[in-house]
Amino acid sequence: MNPNGARRPALVAKHGVSRPHATALIPAAGRGTRVGGSRPKQFRPLGEMPLLANTLAVFQSSALIDEIVLIVPPGDEDVCRREIVDRYALSKVTRIVPGGASRQESVAGGLRAVAPDVSLVLIHDAARPFVTADLIRRVLEAAASSGAAIAAIPVVDTLKRRSSPSAGAVTIERDGVWAAQTPQAFHRSLLVQAFAQAAADGFTGTDDASLVERLGHPIALVDGHPANLKITTAEDLEFAEDLIAVRQATGSRSGTG
Ligand code: C5P
Repeated sequence: MNPNGARRPALVAKHGVSRPHATALIPAAGRGTRVGGSRPKQFRPLGEMPLLANTLAVFQSSALIDEIVLIVPPGDEDVCRREIVDRYALSKVTRIVPGGASRQESVAGGLRAVAPDVSLVLIHDAARPFVTADLIRRVLEAAASSGAAIAAIPVVDTLKRRSSPSAGAVTIERDGVWAAQTPQAFHRSLLVQAFAQAAADGFTGTDDASLVERLGHPIALVDGHPANLKITTAEDLEFAEDLIAVRQATGSRSGTG
């Protein structure tokens, strides 16, 4: 037992190999207004299924994910269960909870639905359907040993900052800069503490790791993949359709490495 009363991360021997098991939180409660259309982007079709079903299917098939807590726009719980969870036989989705006004509030609500004896929690944006079982495994393994790990990719473009639309742009040092993705995984007790501290301080971050950093806990970086993109705009959705079409045409497996 650790000081917070939770079990050590579950290292379950399977086929002679120790592997960390986890509960996945999938925040899907954004309104997705930048994609356009009358329904939130997570319900829009992508390939043969709605975007959200594509994302959930990867977690359903991962041997390291025991349960999925799905966070949806308030009032959409029933429609999500019917049209997504039941329709695509996503049996690992054990809870569907309403989200909040911000992503952080949505994740906080999902975290409250996780049983206290769960030791590892992995969070992944519903809007990133090209996550793979391999990336989930690598992030979970790093989090099991270090407490906090996230997928990220090194920034390759030169970075500029401008303080206002009329100001000139200045170059920002790029060395050692990474773009954070999800999945992000944490010891549950550490994540609960980070969310409580952020709420007490009125702090809002753009990812989950930024809350954990504030406790002084180091965040391990795991190599993500450029194709693990977050679908934010209508153009992203078109690009994702093209990616799926190319993969189907070439017979390559779906998802990123
Ligand atoms: O676009 P954004 O970065 O805010 O969304 C990342 C993920 O967080 C998406 O999957 C979105 O559905 C989810 N989200 C949420 N609750 C909100 C806002 C976003 O669950 N209030």
